Amino acid sequence: MKANPVFDAAREVEFRKANKRWDIIGMFAGTTAVALIGVPLYGYFYGFTASAWIAFGVLFVMCNMAITTGYHRLWSHKTFNAHWSVRVFLMLTGALALENSILKWVSDHRRHHGHVDDPYKDPYAATRGFWFSHMGWMLRDYSSAPMDFSNVKDLEKEPIVMWQHKYYLPLAVGLNVGVPLGLGFGFGNVLEMFLVAGFFRLIVTHHTTFFINSLAHIIGRRPWSTGNTARDNFILALLTFGEGYHNYHHAHPGDYRNGIRFWHWDPSKWAIRFLSFFGLTRDLRTATPQVHRRRQKTSHPKDGSLVAKTSTVGVNSSVSSRPAA
Ligand SMILES: [Zn+2]
Ligand SMILES: [Zn+2]
Repeated sequence: MKANPVFDAAREVEFRKANKRWDIIGMFAGTTAVALIGVPLYGYFYGFTASAWIAFGVLFVMCNMAITTGYHRLWSHKTFNAHWSVRVFLMLTGALALENSILKWVSDHRRHHGHVDDPYKDPYAATRGFWFSHMGWMLRDYSSAPMDFSNVKDLEKEPIVMWQHKYYLPLAVGLNVGVPLGLGFGFGNVLEMFLVAGFFRLIVTHHTTFFINSLAHIIGRRPWSTGNTARDNFILALLTFGEGYHNYHHAHPGDYRNGIRFWHWDPSKWAIRFLSFFGLTRDLRTATPQVHRRRQKTSHPKDGSLVAKTSTVGVNSSVSSRPAA
């Protein structure tokens, strides 16, 4: 934790008056109740077939990878470029993850990097504790996470992003009903698919992603910067497809990798690199060794460059910049 988060008594009173978001509270309460009560009861009395668990695994990987590679590394930080077909796939599977539209997610995330640990400007400030940074920040209309899209003007020019934002609710609900329903009809186990590949997958996806905002700012090492609460945590990297190297990420947010060593568990990095061999991703950005050394020596108080730019000093393209096919 940061030693002295700047809390102000008068501002705290106003901050805590924020209206409750009953729609969000209801969504979390409903999905959690079905996943934690309905799934074990059904399993105890009837058991589950293998196809339901396979669908759970496939959808869990697809949803989490959409958040890590798409929402986070592609749209929030622009650490690489991607073919439109990859963007459409990530946009759809991201909607299935039910973590809000790309536009809102990225807006919150850029605010997090720009004001990390500030209790009034970081939407999920870890200085407010585990619960607030994990889920609490979404349950009220806090002033630290406003519907202000002035920091995502670049994304407002992207039709795929804006289409998803416009139709987010019907799209997210439609996918979360339609996918388990379609799989259930295909395998003859509709209820099982809804319970395991629908509700249970949703809460596992939610909490593993939320761990990055909470635990990855609380437990772990800080080899790259001690200027903020972000930590490197290998166990979290296993659960979050590579996002656990969060101290490195806050120091070098323009790098398409979070785990930079070849042995670091970072499937998101591997997927982005793998797709580049087929021209489906390109312009992969990495921080140079010189930048690594400089950052290690000085515990810089602020994050590195938030969004990768082709001209950014100290950031280079690690692979060919041929256009995506
Ligand atoms: Zn963070
Ligand atoms: Zn980030």
